[in-house]
Amino acid sequence: MYYTIKTLGCKVNQIDSLRLAESLEEIGLAEAPPGERAALCVVNTCSVTARTDTQCRQMIRRLVRDHPGARVVVTGCYAETNPEAIRSIPGVDRVMANGEKRQARRIWDGILSNHPERVAQPLAPQSTQALPREQTGGIRGRRRAFVQVQDGCDAFCAYCIVPYGRGPLNSEDPDRVVQQVKTLVARGVAEIVLSGIHLGAYGLDRREANGLARLLRRLVRIPGEWRIRLSSVEPKEVDDELIALVTGEEKICSHLHIPLQSGDTEILRRMGRPYSREEYAALVCRLRERSDTMAIGTDLIAGLPGESERSFESSCQWLPTLPLTHFHVFPFSPRSGTTAAEMGDQVSPALCKARAARLRAIGGRLQTNFVRRMTGRVLRVVPISDPAAAGTPLKVLSENYLEGFISDPPSPSRGIFTAKVSRTEGVRILLRPQS
Ligand code: SF4
Repeated sequence: MYYTIKTLGCKVNQIDSLRLAESLEEIGLAEAPPGERAALCVVNTCSVTARTDTQCRQMIRRLVRDHPGARVVVTGCYAETNPEAIRSIPGVDRVMANGEKRQARRIWDGILSNHPERVAQPLAPQSTQALPREQTGGIRGRRRAFVQVQDGCDAFCAYCIVPYGRGPLNSEDPDRVVQQVKTLVARGVAEIVLSGIHLGAYGLDRREANGLARLLRRLVRIPGEWRIRLSSVEPKEVDDELIALVTGEEKICSHLHIPLQSGDTEILRRMGRPYSREEYAALVCRLRERSDTMAIGTDLIAGLPGESERSFESSCQWLPTLPLTHFHVFPFSPRSGTTAAEMGDQVSPALCKARAARLRAIGGRLQTNFVRRMTGRVLRVVPISDPAAAGTPLKVLSENYLEGFISDPPSPSRGIFTAKVSRTEGVRILLRPQS
C-alpha cells in the first residue's frame, strides 16, 4: 500500500513531512514509486504568499486527479489558516491541524480504516501514542539531518501569517534534543541543522533565558565527527554568547541566517521588527570582523505597504555595503488577518515583483563576490550526494554554506573532511582534497 507526501514551504514543514512519512512507514505503507497509484496522499501546505496558497490548491487537485480512490489529507499552515478553502476542494477527506501532526498515526488509522486496499492487506498494529520526536531523524540515508527544537512564534510581525498557523512558542525539552542528536550522531549523521519557526526564542516558553546558547553548549560536548548548523535567528537574538559560540566552536558551522526584511528603518517599524537598519549593520559588521569566511544570509520582503520609491532606492544603495553573502527575497503578499493586509499605501503586485527582482540581483552579486573570495581557502565539507556513486564528482556543502564538487574525495568520504577551494564557477566551489 503506497503513500505520497507533497510539501511546500519552510524547513520546519519539510521536517514535519519526514516525520509523517516515518509514521506511515511504521504502519507498513511505502512511498509510491513514480507512476504508481497511492492509497494515501498527504499535502503539507504553506501560506507564506497568496501565490503559495494557489500552488497548494493546484497540488491538491493534481493529486486527487492522479490518484483516484486515494484518501487525501491536507495539513500545514494554509490548512490551518483557511481550512474552509481546503475542505471545499472535491476529493479532500481530512484537514489535519498542525497540532495534530504529532497524533498522525491515529489519523492514519481513522482515514484508512475502510480503504479497500487496507481491508485486503491489514496494516501494522496501531499505536495510540503521540509520535515522539526521537523518531524524527529526517536522515533517510543522508549525511545531513534536521532537528526541530522549537515550533510557533508570538512576534506577530505585521506581514506574517505564521503565528496564526503555528501558534505560540513551543520549545522541545533540551534533554530530548540532546538524546535525539546523540542518536543521529551514532547513526553516522555528519551535519545536524537545528531548526525552529523562531529558533532564537528557544526555551523562552520554558522560562529559560539564553535557551539556544545553553542548548548549543550541551550539544557541542557530544563527541564525534559531526557539526551543527543553525537555521534562521532573529537579529535581536544574536547576542554576545551566540556570536562567541558560532565564531569560536568548531562544531558549529560558520554560518548565520539573520532576517533583515527591509533596508529602511521606517518600514522595519511598520513591520513591527524591533531594530533599526543601523543596529542590523552593526551586528553583521561585528560578525564579519570575527570571521571573514562566515556565511551571513538574510531574508528581505519587497514592497511592504508604504515602501516608497525613495525608501526602496535607499535600501538598494545601502544593502551592498553590508557583509552579507546571500538573500532570500519575497515579494510582499497581503495575508488575510495580518496587520499589513489592512495597511494603506499598498504597492502593486507588479511593482513588488520588480523590486524583488532587483533585490535578488543585488544578493546575487554579493553572493558571487563572497564565493570568489573563497578561492584558495581550506574548508570543512560534508557530502550531500551519494559517496558511493563512483565516477561522478562528490557534491559537498561547506561549513560556510557553499555548495560545490570534489572529483577525487578522500576515502572513505562519508563524514566531515577538509578540502581546498581550487576555483569557483558562479556560486559553486570546486575543491581538491587537502593533504
Ligand atoms: S518572527 Fe516575525 S516573521 Fe518570523 S515567524 Fe515570527 S511573526 Fe513571522
